[in-house]
Amino acid sequence: MKLILLGAPGAGKGTVAKKLMDLDGSVQISTGDILRAAVKEGSELGKQAKAFMDAGDLVPDALIMGIMEERLQAEDCKAGFLLDGFPRTIPQAEALKAVLARLNIALDGAINLDVPREVILDRLTTRRTCVDCGAIYNVKSMPPKVEGVCDKCGGQVVQRDDETEEAISNRLDVYNEKTAPLVSFYEKEGLLFSVSSTSSDEVVAAVRAKISA
Ligand code: ADP
Ligand code: ZN
Repeated sequence: MKLILLGAPGAGKGTVAKKLMDLDGSVQISTGDILRAAVKEGSELGKQAKAFMDAGDLVPDALIMGIMEERLQAEDCKAGFLLDGFPRTIPQAEALKAVLARLNIALDGAINLDVPREVILDRLTTRRTCVDCGAIYNVKSMPPKVEGVCDKCGGQVVQRDDETEEAISNRLDVYNEKTAPLVSFYEKEGLLFSVSSTSSDEVVAAVRAKISA
């Protein structure tokens, strides 16, 4: 599958991507995970990205396109990819379209995860993330077996720096202003498929049905 996952922060893009990845060997590409790894490493990219991320603002398009243009040409993308958190702006979507055309890659679709704002807010404030492998937990509905420790890799499970109430509210505003317009962009491209469900299993089933149709 070659898919874009659209949806607000907390809509479940990462969870759905991980489940889809297990189905057919497609690789999840999360720009948020790539950026957090760069910040942790202290690389040049990480240094440039950190302040934007902590405030809940978007990292500049040019930085993101530099990473993604290279990432999409890696060997593991041949089996398929699930873009999680990218594109995030109309200029990124335009640039992605040009890159894919040049690499001769056709997308299967852009899946829009349509989740009510109250659900999103509740999820973001209770979400916890493994600093090492990016696994996602929820203090209410899906805590790790041992508090603060990742079930999968033993890494530390924490609340992200951009998951303070202030940064969350800014991320949702940024989403509405910069990213929500991608829904009509992909509708015009004839690639949009919207799913309204708060269950990731239901979303995965709907995507499978759509892709195999
Ligand atoms: P979420 O979808 O939960 O908001 P992500 O992990 O996708 O979180 O992204 C975290 C942060 O990383 C964003 O708030 C932004 O600062 C930065 N980021 C991730 N992807 C992009 C992108 N495609 N363009 C610009 N900034 C990005
Ligand atoms: Zn982990």
